[in-house]
Amino acid sequence: MMVEAGYETVAKEIIKCTRCPLHKSAIKRVIGKGSCNPKVFFIGEAPGKSENETGIPFYGRAGKKLDKMIEYMGLSEEDWMVTNTVKCHPPENRRPSTNEIECCKPFLLSQIILLNPKIIILLGNTAEKSFCPGKKLEWGVPVEHEGRTILKLYHPAALIYTSSKKEVQRAFIDKNRELWS
Ligand code: SF4
Repeated sequence: MMVEAGYETVAKEIIKCTRCPLHKSAIKRVIGKGSCNPKVFFIGEAPGKSENETGIPFYGRAGKKLDKMIEYMGLSEEDWMVTNTVKCHPPENRRPSTNEIECCKPFLLSQIILLNPKIIILLGNTAEKSFCPGKKLEWGVPVEHEGRTILKLYHPAALIYTSSKKEVQRAFIDKNRELWS
């Protein structure tokens, strides 16, 4: 139903959603940022404190890392969109629970169907758990799924705390450049 009605309907449904307990800690719903016709669709984990205040995904330090990563990938503004597995901020910045991820998944899937990206980049294990529950993808190794290419990369926040991952992430990107070029 949401897909038939279009992206604006999905956004409106997200704004008024009380399907899981995370709505209680939400100041703003964090729906997505980027192009409405993306080649690459990034999925992160959950909105943090700054995202909750602004309604913009990847707004803080991790956002700056994501910007650098996108620049290194050579993507232009029209090429990408980013969202999270859940659209409301989990208290204490904890990971969203399996139940919360599942409650929010229809919104994520509607975004994917409506925006129709060629490539989905899962930023870390929570995105993987949401998008392909029960599966373990190899880091940096693309797989085909329902007509799209899925690639698991490190979450930008992981690059802040583990600097050795920066070079590995760059190698993953270099190896897969032809996917989005
Ligand atoms: S996280 Fe998703 S499912 Fe939970 S209340 Fe927010 S929009 Fe609804």
